[in-house]
Amino acid sequence: MENKEYTADDIPNNDRLYAFSVITGQVFPIQKDDIKLLFKYQIPITNKPKSSCKKCFGRGYTSMESKTNFHIMCSCISKHIIEGYDTTNISIPIPRVV
Ligand SMILES: [Zn+2]
Repeated sequence: MENKEYTADDIPNNDRLYAFSVITGQVFPIQKDDIKLLFKYQIPITNKPKSSCKKCFGRGYTSMESKTNFHIMCSCISKHIIEGYDTTNISIPIPRVV
């Protein structure tokens, strides 16, 4: 994969977008144009966490990293990180499903 700069135009039109904050553990709805305004700790995703998820029970995170208090993203949303989004600038472990 080439390492190109991410732009909001790279994602398909989707009016249901969300962002996950590793600081607060919250998932909140965003617009496509908001993606470029997100902080590095706010990760754009295309799906909300599933309330039926047995790992996070719909919270979107499974645990907290003890040193940083960052919320560890559940795989039920980490596999819905927006395509083309560069996760290498996020210094937290993400159990990305490939
Ligand atoms: Zn989950």
